[in-house]
Amino acid sequence: MSADDSPNENMGQPGLVSAALSGLCPRCGARTLFAAPARLAGQCSDCGLDVCKLERGGRFVGVITMLLALALILAALGVDALLRPPLWLSLLFWGPVTVGIVIGSLRFYKTMWVYHQYEEHQQP
Ligand SMILES: [Zn+2]
Repeated sequence: MSADDSPNENMGQPGLVSAALSGLCPRCGARTLFAAPARLAGQCSDCGLDVCKLERGGRFVGVITMLLALALILAALGVDALLRPPLWLSLLFWGPVTVGIVIGSLRFYKTMWVYHQYEEHQQP
């Protein structure tokens, strides 16, 4: 783990990726953006930033989750056709992989959205 706590340098993807991974607040950089692995907190407990207000309009989350599910099902079918793994192995593998990918993508998407909204609110 790096000690890079500078989400205010919104200059590129690395900042956003680490912000999504650690759930950093766009204003103060505290790890307060997420209340649960894939659920945003209502507001930053550190600086009081209204995350709820910034999240409004992020309505493509359902579509993204469905596209992800579709891609994962296709990937699972492909692996199944190629390797013919036993059912228990498939379940053991795809269960955690699915949960991990969905949660990771939702975190990244929501962080991207909140940061985008935050920047727009900064510029009148
Ligand atoms: Zn904050």
